[in-house]
Amino acid sequence: MQVFKFGGASVKDANGVKNIAGVLQKVGYKNTLIVVSAMGKTTNALEVVIKNYFENRPELQSSLQEVKKYHNEILLDLFPNEQHPVYKKVASFFDELNSFLKSNKSPDYNFVYDQVIGFGELVSTLIISAYLNEIGLKNNWIDVREQIKTDNYYRRANVNWDETQRLITANFNKSVLNITQGFLGSDPNNFTTTLGREGSDYTAAIYAYCLNAESVTIWKDVPGVLNADPRYFENAQLLHKISYREAIELAFYGASVIHPKTLQPLQGKEIPLFVKSFLNPEAPGTRIGKNIALEPMVPCFIVKKNQVLISLSSLDFSYIVEENISEIFNLLHSFKMKVDVIQNSAISFSVCVDNIYNNLDKLLHHLKAKFKVTCHENVSLYTIRHYNQAAINQIEEGKTVLLKQLTQETVQIVSK
Ligand code: ADP
Ligand code: ASP
Ligand code: MG
Repeated sequence: MQVFKFGGASVKDANGVKNIAGVLQKVGYKNTLIVVSAMGKTTNALEVVIKNYFENRPELQSSLQEVKKYHNEILLDLFPNEQHPVYKKVASFFDELNSFLKSNKSPDYNFVYDQVIGFGELVSTLIISAYLNEIGLKNNWIDVREQIKTDNYYRRANVNWDETQRLITANFNKSVLNITQGFLGSDPNNFTTTLGREGSDYTAAIYAYCLNAESVTIWKDVPGVLNADPRYFENAQLLHKISYREAIELAFYGASVIHPKTLQPLQGKEIPLFVKSFLNPEAPGTRIGKNIALEPMVPCFIVKKNQVLISLSSLDFSYIVEENISEIFNLLHSFKMKVDVIQNSAISFSVCVDNIYNNLDKLLHHLKAKFKVTCHENVSLYTIRHYNQAAINQIEEGKTVLLKQLTQETVQIVSK
């Protein structure tokens, strides 16, 4: 078995869907499962729908209409005959979404989010499956919610591995080309759950684990994993080989090319992960596996924009010790701040955090009651793995460095 994952960028339009067929024909699709995300930016568009719904905004209908129109244009390009049954099937998914919004009584944002957002992947895989069937790549469409079971922690559900393994073992037909949705699962009451934004990579890893697959390939708009995000760094270089450990570190520090949860199940069974270009499918891309030395051995850069640097010192020049630190961390945890860097000295303590849930004001209010607080918003956090002086100079040039921390393999620089 091989598992392929195609992300939103690869299926952002009809040509993208045709290109998937091209990739499968070029590299082979025997004993293959393809896991696909929502098309283009559909997940973001559905997030707008959910917001409009919860805020009772009049734009609700137009935001929904936009999602339908986008998919309809792709359908028209792929299936010129509007009598094709795929039109009815897509329409019935959108009807289901409409009736959910009409009948829902739950005030739970996260629950509603998952029930609505999942239609992106459901519709996308329906269209792609129908297109592949149409051109002779016969395939079996799987509703992933019947195979990946989770708890009901909506928006960041945890996989029930035993139940998932049992369902996949009992129901998955390995001898045909299968297609299913990334990102989704279902809870014990069969309500849709999601695995966290960008979670489709993780879905591919879950299947690979349960199917004892030979490999997973993530098809991207870049040639593979590069030593830096090409959107922010010129001359980013392709990394030919990386160890699981290095990939986990890169994902942890924020390299958005692989979802951080993806590596762990693969590492457990030593299933290699390839990252390749869907525009050049025969090129080798990047191979991630066990105990592979980074090749080439070059500094790797990761940037996280829009971070917040908070520095605290005691009001009376007393030391910041275990007790204060534990209090600070309790506050960071209760306001759901993701901590990227920590630095402390006798009377001061700094953290660089990601303010994902917009709780900064509340956090600062609590901290100011106990500490002298300085806060820099909108700072960038640069992480360089396998750094050298030239790499550090490249990042620091022309910037004000607010915090810098070196360990043997990694340097982190917070700058304005
Ligand atoms: P998908 O369509 O699979 O969701 P994404 O857009 O999430 O794909 O991920 C691909 C993008 O990740 C690339 O276009 C690139 O800008 C970005 N990226 C960030 N860090 C890296 C890196 N180290 N190597 C390659 N791409 C990276
Ligand atoms: N469609 C989801 C998202 O955009 C999942 C994914 O693409 O991996 O977050
Ligand atoms: Mg993505």
